[in-house]
Amino acid sequence: MAKRNCRPPGLNLDKTLLAELAALELADLRRHLRTVDESALLNFAATDYLGLSRHPALIEAARRATSERGTGAGASRIVTGTDSAVLALEEQLAAWKEKEAALVFSSGYAAALGTIPALVDKGDTVILDKLAHASLIDAARLSGATLRVFPHNQLQKLDALLQKISTTRGAGRTLIVTESIFSMDGDTAPLRELVELKDRHGAWLLVDEAHATALYGTTGAGLISEAGLSSRVEIVMGTLSKALGSVGGYIAGSRPLIDWLVNRARSFVYSTALPPGVIAASRVAVDLARGPEGAALRARLRENIARFHAGLPAAWKKQALSASAIQPLICGEAAAALSLAVALRERGFLIPAIRYPTVPRHAARLRVTLSAAHASKEIDALNEELASIYSSRS
Ligand SMILES: *Cc1c(COP(=O)(O)O)cnc(C)c1O
Repeated sequence: MAKRNCRPPGLNLDKTLLAELAALELADLRRHLRTVDESALLNFAATDYLGLSRHPALIEAARRATSERGTGAGASRIVTGTDSAVLALEEQLAAWKEKEAALVFSSGYAAALGTIPALVDKGDTVILDKLAHASLIDAARLSGATLRVFPHNQLQKLDALLQKISTTRGAGRTLIVTESIFSMDGDTAPLRELVELKDRHGAWLLVDEAHATALYGTTGAGLISEAGLSSRVEIVMGTLSKALGSVGGYIAGSRPLIDWLVNRARSFVYSTALPPGVIAASRVAVDLARGPEGAALRARLRENIARFHAGLPAAWKKQALSASAIQPLICGEAAAALSLAVALRERGFLIPAIRYPTVPRHAARLRVTLSAAHASKEIDALNEELASIYSSRS
């Protein structure tokens, strides 16, 4: 029976949101979830840089662990205890990253969200590189610490910020947060200079290796390890969901850091552990990445990057080309990036248009990601399409 509602009508949820969605659409910023028929499209969008997500050894390990232990972990590790396979994965990650210990989270996003607020609070300061990933920004905001941003990779600006903070704040902690390979530009942070700077100012450093893990260094441990800086970066973050082909995130660091996160990282404490299949696949992925097969896949990826650069239409070659697997093709306005992405899709290539707020306004781009699994002729086909689209439009 309908009762008279005496409260004021208020805002209708759907109407409110439909208006907001229409505004996004108008600005070419609306995102849609699309079904992807992968078999029909050449995928230059994934971050499965070594092709490990389709590796038979990972699939078999996941299948076996799932048959033996089931599809779900059942509860948080604080509640049910830790499966020995998870500890084995964490030991593997710690050894690989040349750290005392590691802790696995349900995603990279969850690793950031749990870790930064566990380390800093009101009265402290987090300083982020301007291009830091959304997970790091959200985590910094959640922490309640004062937020500062320095222009991308500009360490003189960071230095000035650190000096100002040390004169105005007394005992507060300062945490610097950056990435080793930046997710939307594929460029590199000046890690050695960063480490020297943060040591000089007594700050802590968190480096997100989401796009470097399994890809740099003789064992694939990442850029920090390749630079010989493992002992000097306090907090190393990464994900199992990119080059390692599975899902999950991790933090590697000192034993006290990891023990503290077990107690205080809320996204760890209050979230269900990763399923056995994911843990098993990740253990195989780390082994593979550290060994000769990993080295061969990395070499293959580098060949693909070089091939892509060599065949790229001249117009884009004028941009600073990234040396990593992430290749941004800057288009400017969102509409330009979108229409290029649509044209490429019609020709059989899956390449995302990356728009505000993921990247700055007027810096919309296509983000091509290369993988060791791409065949040479697929890279060539992409370059031919890019050239033909480009010449038809200019
Ligand atoms: C993808 C990504 C994350 C989040 O990792 P997920 O495991 O996908 O949640 C964190 N940082 C960076 C730089 C990323 O690109």
